[in-house]
Amino acid sequence: MYELKIISQFAAAHQLKEFHGSCENLHGHNWKVEVHVRGPRLEGNGLLMDFREIKLATKVALDDLDHHFLNEVDAFKEMNPSSENIARHIFKRLSRSLDRGDIRVSKVTAWESDNACASYSEP
Ligand SMILES: [Zn+2]
Repeated sequence: MYELKIISQFAAAHQLKEFHGSCENLHGHNWKVEVHVRGPRLEGNGLLMDFREIKLATKVALDDLDHHFLNEVDAFKEMNPSSENIARHIFKRLSRSLDRGDIRVSKVTAWESDNACASYSEP
């Protein structure tokens, strides 16, 4: 298998409910987002997928989160904007725009600090 990874970031505020820790109070993070795309075969040009396409799709997805209060973004009206749910939300959006044939978004990781991240993937 081949695997590509791009890294992007966004800044936003959130507040976690029913969470007895410091994330219960309104605060912000600079999230770093890693997007992995996997596939077994390359195109004739030797590429699995053009990095620019992954970067552009990721930018579009992150623009809806960047500099927002995540609790008020539609995607998080019904669920806590935790790093786990942020990773899942980005994964689902990117899957819709990037998946084709046996090339798939394989994992999205959301780093909320230098040493803590959450990943979402599907088997
Ligand atoms: Zn937080």
